[in-house]
Amino acid sequence: MRRVYELAGCPVCGGYDAVEVASADDLRREVEELWEFRLRRLLAGVPPERLADRLAFSQHAPLRLVRCTACGTVFRNPRERAHVLEETYAGEAPDPRTLRALFDAQRRAYRTQARRLLRVARRRGSGLEVGSYVGAFLAAARERGWRFEGIDIARSAVHFTRGLGFDARLGTLEDVPAARRFDVVAIWNTFEQLPDPRRALAEAHRRLAPGGVLALRVPNGAFYAALRPALDGPLRRLARALLAHNNLLGFPYRHGFTATSLERLLAAEGFRVVRRTGDSLVPLADEWTKRWARWEERLCQAALRGVARGAAAPWLEVYARVVRPTGA
Ligand SMILES: [Zn+2]
Repeated sequence: MRRVYELAGCPVCGGYDAVEVASADDLRREVEELWEFRLRRLLAGVPPERLADRLAFSQHAPLRLVRCTACGTVFRNPRERAHVLEETYAGEAPDPRTLRALFDAQRRAYRTQARRLLRVARRRGSGLEVGSYVGAFLAAARERGWRFEGIDIARSAVHFTRGLGFDARLGTLEDVPAARRFDVVAIWNTFEQLPDPRRALAEAHRRLAPGGVLALRVPNGAFYAALRPALDGPLRRLARALLAHNNLLGFPYRHGFTATSLERLLAAEGFRVVRRTGDSLVPLADEWTKRWARWEERLCQAALRGVARGAAAPWLEVYARVVRPTGA
């Protein structure tokens, strides 16, 4: 594929003063280590399509990662132009069996988010999920009594989700009529991939009812930046396992927000953070994972929940309320 890059400023504060977190060589090595790490944990004969989110990432590894000296956000520099990014996602076409396996695994995990959302919003209502993918959150939300609809740019995933009886559409947030109002807009594991996160927040704001809730779940750039140097030191095996189990090795994301940089971005777009929680990645293990590796994954994630809480956790979940009327 033709790849087009551009020099990038910080997606949060616009600053150009940044330090290198990982060079092209570092990242190439991380991707190689990730393959080796995953393959060692899979049973022989795993069908290639089941490697879906484990190895065949939709997002290419970055050319180089930097951290903004002003606000701490980790980002790709240079970065791919927006249209390249969208083509990458829209072109994905996993088979229905793979989508079904992802749906089953993710639905269980998303029950946590559906529950947290209810605690923050205090009452059920209407919702829009941006990046609804296979519809796993839509299912978990429906179980909790929410009326959620989804939007996604992956045609096969939208087709699959509609086949399960959920309201899902092909497109981006901008394609949702600006006159629609939702009680909740949820963007799980997708916000960090968007070409223009600031614009996405403005678009979400416009579609939220007064006092509406925005829910985001993103990889923690601060966690990656803190562990990255350990990949070259005596604790590299541990650092590699912690990053790999949280899908952070090779950093297959466009932006690595931190708890404070995300809060800053949200405040600038008319939101106030009402709840923040640190988390580890949803489990990736399935019937093709070796038994010891399933335990390793569980132990790693449980240990992390114990030590790396809140702003130090590998993933961040943030719930924010609309505090300013649209256009103010
Ligand atoms: Zn910055």
